[in-house]
Amino acid sequence: MKQFSDISAAIEKRKNDQLLRSRVQLHSAQGIRVVIDGQPMLSFCSNDYLGLANHPLVCEAMIASIKKVGVGAGASHLIDGHHREHEQLEQELAAFMVRERALLFSTGYMANLGVIAALMTRHDTIIQDKLNHASLIDGGILSQARSLRYRHNDLEHLEQCLASATSKKLVVTDGVFSMDGDCAPLTDIAQLCSQYGAWLMVDDAHGLGTLGDNGAGLVSQLGLDSKAVPLVIGTLGKAFGTSGAFVAGDATTIEYILQYSRPYTYTTASPPSVAAATRESLKLVINGQDRRAQLNQNIAYFRAKISSLGFELMSSSTAIQPVLVGANERALQLSKQLKEQGILVSAIRPPTVPKGTARLRFTLSADHTQADIDELYDALRLVV
Ligand SMILES: *Cc1c(COP(=O)(O)O)cnc(C)c1O
Repeated sequence: MKQFSDISAAIEKRKNDQLLRSRVQLHSAQGIRVVIDGQPMLSFCSNDYLGLANHPLVCEAMIASIKKVGVGAGASHLIDGHHREHEQLEQELAAFMVRERALLFSTGYMANLGVIAALMTRHDTIIQDKLNHASLIDGGILSQARSLRYRHNDLEHLEQCLASATSKKLVVTDGVFSMDGDCAPLTDIAQLCSQYGAWLMVDDAHGLGTLGDNGAGLVSQLGLDSKAVPLVIGTLGKAFGTSGAFVAGDATTIEYILQYSRPYTYTTASPPSVAAATRESLKLVINGQDRRAQLNQNIAYFRAKISSLGFELMSSSTAIQPVLVGANERALQLSKQLKEQGILVSAIRPPTVPKGTARLRFTLSADHTQADIDELYDALRLVV
């Protein structure tokens, strides 16, 4: 019984700290105009940055595939769930990322667990940015390696960590940071890694599709090859608008992960139709220059409009545009007041972000128009 009183006390505490989470129900397709709990809303909170989650060509590709091969993969990749669609997608992703090989996972969370836990052991050291995504931290825990964390984007602190580790070293960082929207200084990080003989793994979940000339992400935008960044993680549930993730790297490392990663081995392959849909969205991403240009225009317009209201924007040039609020209650209140005016944005609170830095996390999409951002501006003006 003790356990049970502990867990209700923990929920009570979250309530009192204004930290209780609750879910809304999406009644429509994902997009910028959604129906939430029966109410039409203008949304600024999905990661569907290019508007592909409900794109007709992507939907058709999935339906056509289901008609041919059904729904469930029925087995793991290493038994007989590895469908031809998965294989072709992996080859196309490897070419897209300019890496020798890519390996699919069912989610980004699993890719990060699977890659880190396969490559690192308790004799090794993992060095991570303080603001890395939870899945990277959890991958480190699963691997049992020694963990060092450096201050966010602080190259001097990273160098101290690199100098202090004598064992095999892996440096891990988000490309675009998911709650702040800023980018890691990857060129300098890669340089330090090569100087100290460390591997580098970049999780480019939010850069993929939105950055780089053909959407291959931050690593590609900075011109970093597989020598500079041996391991790149991309997720497919964000700008790609589908589901899943991949790791791209040299053939030997990818083969090793395939052989030794438990989160890769002991799970059912994702439906082949998801791979078929993703192959279609990959084409749209590669040819998505207009979408990326529109997204960038929206980002610039958003920043100009919202800062004119006196809100504190963070130093982000990406589709993730957080407005720093500070107190949990204030963030919740603003999000609620916007919701009453038909605008959906999430209040992000600890433990997702550090204490005292609660924020409204706006995300922009290529599908937003200036009129949409004007509508947000008018709503915000009423609540400042
Ligand atoms: C969303 C995200 C993930 C997890 O990807 P899923 O496919 O949603 O599991 C991993 N890393 C980062 C940086 C993310 O933003």
